[in-house]
Amino acid sequence: MQVTQSTAPLVQAQRNYFQSGVTHAYGFRQTQLKALGAAIQEQQGAIQQALAQDLGKSVFEAVLTETTNSISEINHTLKHLKAWMAPQRVRTSVVQFPAQGEIWSEPLGVVLNISPWNYPFQLAMGPLIGAIAAGNCTILKPSELAPHTSGVIAELIAKTFPPEYITVVEGDKTITQDLLKNRFDHIFFTGSTAIGRLIMAAAAPHLTPVTLELGGKSPCIVGPDAPVELTARRIAWGKFINGGQTCIAPDYVLVPPALKAPLLGQLRHWIGEFYGKNPADSPDYGRIINEHHWQRLRDLVDPAQVVIGGDGDIEARYFAPTVLDGVGWDDPVMEAEIFGPILPILTYGEMGEAIAAINARPKPLALYLFTNDPNLQNQVLSQTSSGGVCINDTIMQLGAPSMPFGGVGESGMGAYHGKFSFDTFSHRKSVLKRKFWLDLDLRYPPYHDKLKWLKWLP
Ligand code: NAD
Repeated sequence: MQVTQSTAPLVQAQRNYFQSGVTHAYGFRQTQLKALGAAIQEQQGAIQQALAQDLGKSVFEAVLTETTNSISEINHTLKHLKAWMAPQRVRTSVVQFPAQGEIWSEPLGVVLNISPWNYPFQLAMGPLIGAIAAGNCTILKPSELAPHTSGVIAELIAKTFPPEYITVVEGDKTITQDLLKNRFDHIFFTGSTAIGRLIMAAAAPHLTPVTLELGGKSPCIVGPDAPVELTARRIAWGKFINGGQTCIAPDYVLVPPALKAPLLGQLRHWIGEFYGKNPADSPDYGRIINEHHWQRLRDLVDPAQVVIGGDGDIEARYFAPTVLDGVGWDDPVMEAEIFGPILPILTYGEMGEAIAAINARPKPLALYLFTNDPNLQNQVLSQTSSGGVCINDTIMQLGAPSMPFGGVGESGMGAYHGKFSFDTFSHRKSVLKRKFWLDLDLRYPPYHDKLKWLKWLP
């Protein structure tokens, strides 16, 4: 929906609908999740076409990284929703005796979900699935930088749900800023750290809780014992999928000096295997989202450092898989998240040196480590902090709904996927059910000499 006036009536309509209580029931949530799953299945073709137009995304990547995981998330949620919704019995304290303790998960209300352009379908659907499961109404604001996908999402949602329950508001920051004037019960934002700060500031006057799924420079450490061929294959896949525009893509590689040359050789080999001699001709290699981002990436490349790739075509939004050598920590490419197909390779001496370099920078969304040495694994796990870690691979940490996905520090706050999504969009309410059949005098005034009994409390 293209909204030109104030968004306040939309939010009010959703608030009224939420207050009717209809979204709370298990049966309702189940029906809506099934309807969303069916709509995604039905619209597969249109979704794939939009992703190809926006990001040059191959059908394989569209299915693997956008629609299949949305459908899997729905199926996983449907399987467990009843159990998640059930009040959870907990032990009570002796001072509460006789009593029964429970934790109820209740819906929050009206949720705002702002999503980015890089996985524009999946990153709009993931939080929406959690919000539906938890019994909320949702306003969805997809990224205007992926306009075809934004349009398909708007159509799919309008066909499937009434706007007072779930609606899409399309547009840029002007409409988002208008949305943010409203009071929401939760804001779920996926995007850059810079805009994340603005979202949190806009939420503060309403005391609206936020989940911020942000980005950052995710390091990739290659250990001294790493099998170089397979390591390079997995790094090249994780870096160049979606044209490098992945929030958890390895941003840069840290490698011992002795492994640098073999690693560069294997990266060259695998880039060739994946995308052929000229990746511009590969149907499997994506495009940069727009000319502005293409130019931003171009400005990060020092031609003297290019060892693989480096070429491109701004009009076609093609940017070759590019690897840089001889990069220093103070170079522009090391300042902020690259978010494109440029991979700087840096060297380190001892593992402590690599850890110190990582810890001197903001906490990343992902950290990758290639080693089979349990001591090195433990050292890195215990001495660094990141949203998530994947050992001996890239990106794959995303695949399991049993694991929370989210950042820490500047890479975000809060988490989702599976039960973690349900919890994000629910309030956990403590419920104590007392009995009438016992009422000890101890806590009631006058206290006289009752103080001595308190020492017996646990
Ligand atoms: P972005 O922050 O520019 O935009 C995200 C959303 O915010 C869009 O819907 C946009 O319209 C809106 N927006 C932009 N400016 C705004 C403003 N001034 N006020 C209010 N809303 C505004 O991010 P992007 O360029 O779409 O995405 C790239 C970033 O997102 C990268 O940093 C990437 O790492 C991060 N990201 C994180 C995750 C994750 O799950 N943690 C996933 C994908 C992308």
